[in-house]
Amino acid sequence: METKSTNTQDIENKIKDIFTHIGDDPEREGLKGTPERIARMWKEIFRGYDEAQKPKITVFENGKDGLSCTSAVLDTGCFYSMCEHHMMPFFGDYWFGYIPNPKGKILGISKVARVIDYCAARLQVQERLAQDVVEMIREALGEEYPPLAIGVILEGEHLCKTMRGVRKQGRMHSSCFFDGGKLSELKDDLYRFKG
Ligand SMILES: [Zn+2]
Repeated sequence: METKSTNTQDIENKIKDIFTHIGDDPEREGLKGTPERIARMWKEIFRGYDEAQKPKITVFENGKDGLSCTSAVLDTGCFYSMCEHHMMPFFGDYWFGYIPNPKGKILGISKVARVIDYCAARLQVQERLAQDVVEMIREALGEEYPPLAIGVILEGEHLCKTMRGVRKQGRMHSSCFFDGGKLSELKDDLYRFKG
């Protein structure tokens, strides 16, 4: 028979206390498996605290194997995170771009989504999420010949805003950029790409 670690049992009991606190009965049928499910789900959606799950970012030498990148490389997709002020989801779209250094490294572009997923899997604020993504990718590209520009734009809906209080609609806009000398060129390309 499997026994639960004290740690897991402890957090499940605390989740039951929360149910009581909001006015529900943690022992009723429908809520029976819920504390365990929440604890298990948190492991997945907060995997961004676990260094072992940090994505490996593949980089290549620019100019090797006949592949030379000198203009902006762009990528877009979606993100899901949890707001650190209310522990409620915020989610939306990202637009990422960088201009590789001719002497530096280029990025396996499919890795951008993995980096965003990993950095988003913590309690976050949208501004820091943008920063974390740019920093992690800059680090992977190396200090010696940094990209000529790199940046990300995030637009997200925050349920802590739309579900409560004044029920403000509208998406929040955040961005983070690094200027290696060609920032205005990257910004033009990125905002055109975003449309
Ligand atoms: Zn919030």
